[in-house]
Parts: sequence; structure tokens; C-alpha cells
Amino acid sequence: MYIDTHSHLFDSAFDLDRDLVIKECFNQNVGKLIVVGFDKETNKLALELCSKYANLYPTVGLHPTELSDYSDNFFVYLEDLIKDEKIVGIGECGLDYYWDDSKKDLQKEVFKKQIELSLKYDKPLIIHSRDAIADTLEVLKSVNKPIKGVMHGYSGSLEMAKEFVKLGLKLGIGGVLTFKNAKNVKEVVKELDLSNFVLETDCPYLTPTPYRGKRNAPYYIPLIAKEMADIKGIDIKEVEETTTKNANELFGGRLL
Ligand SMILES: [Zn+2]
Repeated sequence: MYIDTHSHLFDSAFDLDRDLVIKECFNQNVGKLIVVGFDKETNKLALELCSKYANLYPTVGLHPTELSDYSDNFFVYLEDLIKDEKIVGIGECGLDYYWDDSKKDLQKEVFKKQIELSLKYDKPLIIHSRDAIADTLEVLKSVNKPIKGVMHGYSGSLEMAKEFVKLGLKLGIGGVLTFKNAKNVKEVVKELDLSNFVLETDCPYLTPTPYRGKRNAPYYIPLIAKEMADIKGIDIKEVEETTTKNANELFGGRLL
């Protein structure tokens, strides 16, 4: 059984057939889905959706591109949510200088506060990093404590991947792995041990080949696993079992 560690199933792209999509995931052996919120609205949607299904698990957080939701009492609201045992992780959070690099300090502050909550409640971080990989590493290192989490949609260099792994983080590998020109992530998958990876779709975005350009969904996870197995020259069953074990360990038994 596979686990999709990063989906946005509350997205309006699924409004017409969400229940069918979820059923199809279970048919395709993708038995557990983590539904990742990223601002006030989507945190609420993730919680609502996951309350309807036994095998959907929500995370809540504040994405660096959604700082307009940030106010004095934001972290009172967020911590209240995180105390709930149904919440399995914190994020997406992190740094994004691609869309807006004018508020780097604020992004770092909001990221650090979510790292503190992760440590306080022992729930893993779902980390987004775009055009900000060096600063992301620096913020994580500055905490100076072992950190649990996943570098979501990892597509950086092998050298940086080793740094994140050293901190204790997993690397979230998605549909990009199946893209012909995705040299970095293919190298990372080839060179690092399978124990470092979890699978994810980031649906409805980043659909794997051969469905690139269409809506992504968690039932495409086996396509990513197949690519990983081919790159590493191992059986797909081993990818399935090990990435699921990695995800279960990362989420500290909360996915059971
Ligand atoms: Zn995402």
C-alpha cells in the first residue's frame, strides 16, 4: 500500500468528482492520503475533508506565499488546531522567493514559529522551498535541534539533499521525477538510500508522465514509484514498502 504524503484534495479541481477520486486511490493501492493545508481557508477545508474519511489525514500551516493571513493572533489559532490529535503534521511552511522576495525576514519568522510548534508537539514539518534553498537550510540549522519533516517536492542538488538528510529530514519525491529533464532529482534518487524518500503528488499540480498537463491525483503515485524503481534498479514492491514505512515512521504512528 502506498501513501501520498502531499495532496491538496480540497482544491476546486476536484469539486465535481472528489469522492470518486478518493475511491479510485484506494482501488489503485494508494491507501492513505495526507491532505495539506496552507492558509486559514485551506486548513479548514483539509480538516473538513479528512473528517469524512478514515484514511485521509490533515496537516495545517501557513505557506510563505500566503502571509496576508498572518496577524498577531495567527499562531494562537494555529496552535489551537495543532493540539488536535487528528492533525498529523505542520505545513506547508517554508520559504518562497520565487513569487515574492520582498519579505524574506517575515517569511523566516513565520517559518521558525512553525518549526517551534513542530518541536513542541512532535509533529513533522511539511517544508516548501522555492528559490530559497540555502536560506531554508540555514533556518533549519539555526534551530540546532533534531527536526522531523519532509522537504516537499524536492528538486534541488544532490549536495543540498545530503545536508537536509543530515538534519534528519525526508525528501518528498513527486511527479517531477518522471520528467525527462529532471536531472537533479533523478540523481538524488539514484545516489541516496531509499530510506530517505517519501512519495507525494502535490495534486492537482505536477502530474507525472504520461499525464503531464492534466489534473494530478494521488492514484498516480505508482507511476512515481515505478520511475524510482527503474532509476535505482530495484523492484517496485521494495519502493512501495520502504516509502510507506518511511512515511509511517515520519508521522510517528499517526497514520494508523
Ligand atoms: Zn503543496
